[in-house]
This record gives sequence, C-alpha cells and structure tokens, in this order.
Amino acid sequence: MSVNRSTYLSLILLWIFASRAFAQANPVNLPTNSHAFDFYERGPYRSEFVLPSDFFGYEPGEFLTTFALYESLLREYGHRSDRLRIFQLGKTPEHRTIYLLAISSPANLAHLDQIKGQLAKLADPRKPNDDDLEDLIRTTPIVVWLSYSIHGNESAAFEAGIQVLYQLLASDDQAITKALDRAIILINPCQNPDGHERFATWYNAHGDGRPEHYAYEHEEPWSIDGRLNHNFFDLNRDLISISQPESQIATRAFLEWHPQVLADHHGQTKEYFFPPAALPINPNLPSTATTKWVQIFGEANAAAFDQYGWPYFVREMFDLFYPGYWDTWSSLHGATGMTYETDGGGRLGYRWYRDDGTVLTLRDGIAKHFTASLATVLTAAVNRESRLRDYRSFFESSIKGSQRRFYLIPNTNPPATAELCALLQRQGIEIARTNREMSIEKGTDRYGRDFSNKTIPAGSYVIDSAQPYSRMAKTLLDFETAESPEFLTRQEKHRRANEKKGTEESKEDFEFYDVTSWSLPLAMGVEAYSTDEPVRGDIVEPIDNRQMAASASLGEGKNRSDQTQLSDGVAYAFEANSPQSMRLAVYLIQSGYRVDTSNDMFRASGQNFPRGSFILLKERNPAELPQILGQFAAQYGVTVRSVSSALSDDDDPGIGSEKIFPLKIPKVAVLAGEPGNQTSYGLLRFLLEQEYGIDLIPVPISNLTKDVLRHLNVLILPNGEASEYKGELDDERLGDLRGWVSEGGVLICIGGASEFAANPETKLTSSRILGTIEKAADEDKSGGSSDKTTEETAKKHKGSGEKKEAVERKPLEVPGAIVRAHVNHDDFLSIGYEDDNLPLLVQGNAFLERSNTGANVLTFEGAELKISGFFWEGNTEDLLRGTSALIDEPIDKGRVILFDSEPGFRMIWTSSVRLLLNAILYGPSQPNKDEGH
Ligand SMILES: [Zn+2]
Repeated sequence: MSVNRSTYLSLILLWIFASRAFAQANPVNLPTNSHAFDFYERGPYRSEFVLPSDFFGYEPGEFLTTFALYESLLREYGHRSDRLRIFQLGKTPEHRTIYLLAISSPANLAHLDQIKGQLAKLADPRKPNDDDLEDLIRTTPIVVWLSYSIHGNESAAFEAGIQVLYQLLASDDQAITKALDRAIILINPCQNPDGHERFATWYNAHGDGRPEHYAYEHEEPWSIDGRLNHNFFDLNRDLISISQPESQIATRAFLEWHPQVLADHHGQTKEYFFPPAALPINPNLPSTATTKWVQIFGEANAAAFDQYGWPYFVREMFDLFYPGYWDTWSSLHGATGMTYETDGGGRLGYRWYRDDGTVLTLRDGIAKHFTASLATVLTAAVNRESRLRDYRSFFESSIKGSQRRFYLIPNTNPPATAELCALLQRQGIEIARTNREMSIEKGTDRYGRDFSNKTIPAGSYVIDSAQPYSRMAKTLLDFETAESPEFLTRQEKHRRANEKKGTEESKEDFEFYDVTSWSLPLAMGVEAYSTDEPVRGDIVEPIDNRQMAASASLGEGKNRSDQTQLSDGVAYAFEANSPQSMRLAVYLIQSGYRVDTSNDMFRASGQNFPRGSFILLKERNPAELPQILGQFAAQYGVTVRSVSSALSDDDDPGIGSEKIFPLKIPKVAVLAGEPGNQTSYGLLRFLLEQEYGIDLIPVPISNLTKDVLRHLNVLILPNGEASEYKGELDDERLGDLRGWVSEGGVLICIGGASEFAANPETKLTSSRILGTIEKAADEDKSGGSSDKTTEETAKKHKGSGEKKEAVERKPLEVPGAIVRAHVNHDDFLSIGYEDDNLPLLVQGNAFLERSNTGANVLTFEGAELKISGFFWEGNTEDLLRGTSALIDEPIDKGRVILFDSEPGFRMIWTSSVRLLLNAILYGPSQPNKDEGH
C-alpha cells in the first residue's frame, strides 16, 4: 500500500523505453521480456518497509548491491519487522558477517527455541516421544532454508534474496501470511560475502550493460573470481571436509535448525534449472521419498514458470551424488536439497545477447530466482505436515535401515584418525570408542576387501549405523559409493558412439559432474573396517565432541607430550611422523634455529630415528634450547628427545654422521595469476600458510625473472592448463627457470603444470605424457609454431606405426577415482610413508610416463590398481599401469618435482599432503651428486 504504484509503473515504463533504445544495437531488435516482470504484485504491502529500490536508488538488476549496502537495508528492516529475527552466525576470513535470517509469523518467532527443540526430536527417533509424535507433526512449522550466492559472482542470486526478503516481510498477501504461519524461512542471504563483494565492486566499476560477449565487463579478472571465497575455495565443493569458515558456520546452523527443505541459488546456465536432478542419485538416499519431494517442488516451480512462459530444464547436468554440494549434503541430512540455477547476471553482466539475438538481462535472472524461491516457500507451507512426516521417516529408516558399522583404528596413524573423527563430528555424526578389545567375524577393509576374524583393539572409534546421520556416515566412510547402472550404461553408450566418430567430428559429452570417489579412510590414510555385525553396547562409550576437536588439533595419544623441560644433551631430536611435528619443524627452521636431518635412519641415545627426523645440535643453537624446545614440544604436541652422546651404540650412523645435513630455510613462492587455476592456488596457500605456517610469497608470472628467482629456493606452479603454461612461459623465461633449477632451485609442478613440464621442449624431465605423440603429429600437420617445434616433433615420431600406437594408448578422461600407487621408499619425497601402497586420486587423461633420468616416487604397477570410483574398462587401468604419479627429477644442483594430481585435493585428500611438505622442507637441502666429501 505504501508503494506508489503509479510512480513505480512510470519508472518501469521509462526503463522499457531505455532498454528499447538500448536494443537498437541489436540488429534483430527483438524486445527483451524482462520489463514484463513485476516484483511487487503480491500486495498489499506494509507501509513501514521501504522498497529495496527506493533504499538503494536503483531498480533490481540495474546495479549490483554490495554486501555492505545490503547490511544497511537489513538493519532498517530489523528495526521494523515483527516477522524477522537476525542471527549473526560468525565471520568470514575478511571479517564480514555470516547472517541467518529467520522469517515467520510473530507467533512462531516467539517460540523459536521450542520449535527448534521439536524439530530436533523429530530428527532423532531414539528419543522417547512416541506419544507426542502426532502432536509434533501437527504443530511444528516446516523449516525452509534459502541460500543465495554461494558463488559470489552469480549476482542474480544475491539480488533475488533481497527481493524475497522484502516480499516475506512486507507483503500481506494471504498466501504469504498463511505460509508464514506454517513455515520458518531461514535465509542465508550470502553464503560467500567475500567473493560477492570482490565481484560486485569490480563489476559496478566496469559494467556498462553491453550485451556484446567481447565487452570487458564479461571478462572477470583472475584475481577477482568472486565465485570463490577469500581462500579461493569453491564453497560448493567443500562439504566433505567442511574446511572453510563459511562452510563450518553454515553447516553448524543447519544441524541446529533441522530444515526440511533447502534451495541453493546459483546462476550460470543458459536456461533456468531446478530439480528433479540428473543421474546419478546418491544410493544412500531414500529413493522413493527423495524422488517424491523433488518432483513436488519441481512441479510447483514449473507451474510458476509456465505462467510467465519461461523455459527451464530438469534432469540434466546437476546430479545428486557427490556429498560436498549443498543439495546432496542437505539431502543426506534429511532435507529436500535442491540446486536452482538461473540464467541472467553473473559473468553475463546486466545484459547479454542470447544465441538467437535476444537480450538476456540480470533482471531476468533475478525474477526467475525470486519466483522459484517463493514457489518453494509456498509449496513447503502447503505440504508442511506430509513433508514433516517424511522427514521423520528419513531418520527412522536411517536408524533401522543400514546395518553397516565402521571401525577406525587409531594406532597406525593417530593424527589422521583424530582429524577424521573431528570431521565426522562436524557432519553431525556420532562417534563412540571401544573400551576393550573385540573381534569381528566378517567384514570389509577400507580397500573393499572381505576379511574374516579381525581383532579390533581397545580405544578404536566406532560409527554405529543406529544414528540419525548414518546415511552421511556411510557415504563418507564406505570404500565406494555406487553410481546407478542406468547412468553407467549411458556413459558406455556415449563412449561407443564416440569411438565410431571421425577425429574431427564433435563428440558426445560424458555426464560425470564430479569425482566418483571420496572415501575418507582412503583419502586421509586411516585404517578402517566395516561390518554388518551389531556393536555390543557394553564395550563402547560415547565420546565428547569438544574433547575430540582438541585432540585433533594437538595430535593424539602417543604424540601428545606434556614435557616442558628437556634434560641437557648434545642434541635434541624428533621424528617427522605427524602433521604436528612438521609444523614444529617449519616453525623452528623459519625462526632461524639450525635444524639437521638425514635421508637415512640414524641412531641416537639407544633409539632409532627414522629417515627425515629432525636434529637440533646444542653447539649450533642458542643456549636456552632445552627450555625453548621443551615448551614447543608441549605446545605442538610433539615428543622431542634429548640425545646424550653423538656416539651410536650399533652399526647405524649417529647424529655426527656425514649423512646428516642441515636444512635450508625454504624461500617459497607460488605462482599467482594466470595460467594457474584459482582453486589450486587457493588450496596451496590455505594448506601451506594456514595449516603448516610456511612463509609463502605469491608471485605473478611476469615477475618470475632471474633477479626474482635468485631470492627463492622453491617455486610451486599450481594446476592449470598445460597449453596456457606453454603460452605464458616463452623460451627466455623457461631458460631462466631451468638455470635457476640447475643452480639448486626446487620447481614443484602440480597437475597441468606437470603436463606442461613433460613437454619435451621444456627439457625439465624425461617423463612424457602418455599418448601425446598423436598431439605432436597434429601440431606438425598444422604447420608448427616455430622451426624448433617442427624439428623436435620430427625427431619424436619416427613412423606412422608409432603414431597409431599413440592413438590407441590415449587414455579416456577419468572423472576422479581412487587408485593404488606403489611407494618408492628410496626417495626423500616418500619420508613418512611406511606402507608400500598409497591410495591416490586420479583425474583427467594426462598420465605421466616413467622418467628414466629421475626417481619415480609413486608408480602405478601390478595387478588391481583400481580401488574405487569410475574406471573406463579396457582403458584406464591398462594405460595407467606403468606410469608415475610423482617424479623427482634432479637437474644439476636442483630438481623438478612433478605431481600428477593435486596433493590435499579439496582438503579431502590429506594423506597426500605430506609429499608436498617433503618437497618444500627437504627439497632445497638435498645433497647433490656433485658434492664430494
Ligand atoms: Zn554456482
């Protein structure tokens, strides 16, 4: 009622004329239809609420609202509304607030704690409440979680959230007020405020509304990439490890509120997408109820969209399989989790030419999200009772359904086990501990192999299936999560169709959306067993969450140390056997303490120290060393031993041995900017700086000159397109890099950077990418970029026979599977890896052939390489066999280290992080072959 409709209409008319005038640039000159949408047709509206457009000074889609401006609007509404409660959940890395807005009728808001209690009861059938179950279902509001802009550059989502907020607070439309009586709408207005603000500030400065695809405003710079959070993580891949503050804050709130519906609003498709989702569907979800509810919400959205004549698509592209996405994650936690993708905005800016010449606007994108959000709220409210009933059933079947129990054995890797337990608890999963030894008759180990009669030691962790989130537990802990046969058959069909096609013909796309395996015991290096045998109640005790989190951060059990004073010795030594000891070593070396190590085991004070252990000699360090080390040992949770004599009591070398060498302070740079991938760069920074305290300088490629390189002894090239690396590193730059390596530099290449290094022209390794002769031949055919290229390629393929073989040996792209790698214990990169096997993630189709000049530290060899996930039959395993996953390539005094895949991938693959730390910490100090004694 307060909205002056005629003023508003004239604004709209002005806008239409303006956009028509604008459309003159469009030769087809079709009208855009965005002006047809009215955001304010659900009146009457309450007069105390200012329209967002009046508050901001621009219409929806005319300008990007900054997070700061949004906060002022929120304060304004917060003062006036009896339908709104604002919760400040926490802070982002850039100190912005993560909000959760609870919107409902004043009556519901007055009893929020009580309602939360009721929902928690519904979600846990173990609590004695059979008597009042019907009462609960009859009286409890449904909770709908609407999340916007997890990808901060998907601008339509953020703007739509503003319109939804206004609508729910200000409209007195009957449908809305009824819905507010029945539902609590939780709005997470911006799941990624830091990324949003980067993008909005940049786009507001450069966005002119040019629809031409080549306009600057459609080229978001590398450094902005608002999709990612401050740490350059993709938050919508983060919910397996829940490694980022934004994810930790939001998942904690989710587990506290128990929502029944979650819609996660994105924006980067050509037409609008809402579920039903594509295949595969995670098999741990209750299939009937999952299908039923996405169908109900899908149909409601479809009806709303049909009213406006908007196209949309379902059942394509966006699946419900990988549990690190909000839709799948929330579904595995009992909600109807849905991804909504809108078309306008984002990198398409304010305006964008569609393929048919019409103009798509940001306003279009906002209107569609707005419409889907409201349809979702209304549908949830109408179906409140039946959705709550199915919510309850989800948990009943979770507890009764699966009989699978998991045991985690801490003895082999206590810190990793503690980390895994802390992660499971972030997921809401309950863990107990055995108080005495027990045995399992039949079960499966973490590699998926059956066993019989296994002894489980006292102090092992138990994840029982009789708990609310057992579906999530199973998804994270099983060695494999199966994809539906229908989906797999379809992929094989695409493959066969493609094999029949000519080399220049366009190929059918495979439908894998993400990695196909993520089993945490494999990814984190934790000994684990599963069984269907019930857990005997008398031998387990529940453990306290806080206690667990503390032990995860300090290390656990035998690594925990209470020592504060070390006895006097000639030296002090500690093993390199945990993340904690690596953190301590980094700290000591970077602080200027003289730390020595050895590539061989040594003996001191009657004790064996495995290779890579750290030694601090009394003579070369400050006088107060025993006190300082004692303190650090306690602080870091590391056992440091005092060594009373340099004399070894047997044939093994002692601490004075010639095999002991000093560790140099690592001067580490990571390439920032193109051609590295932002997420690979982000992961390296997060992992090395925040998790291990390594001093790291991000350097752009233009600054990687001779003068800069001489300040460094480690340079990391993140994963990126090999061809782009080739384009950026010209002969001169490459020459500088090679010169620096041969003077002692350590060049660490990840993923695509390794693929680039394996190009013969770089002369950085003798390894090659499997099946690339074909590529070289193609380049040759097209003329070659330089004489040198032609010469090199001519040298490389000696005849057509070899070329044919290369074609046949071309690997098909692997979406991401777990493979058994063999560990070479002779190279320093494998320090800390005692097993002969290491489960690794393999992705893509660039497999590294063995180097015949360097050390092949991780290789794929022997039978049964596949552990879990999707492999192409008759291709992946055959071609992988004989290749390397990690190469240490010495060049004069330095070395090039090639990683086939990303160590620490998404903070899930923590078992491979140590390889990278070894490269950085020990790499620059490796004795080289020219050093005589
Ligand atoms: Zn997105």
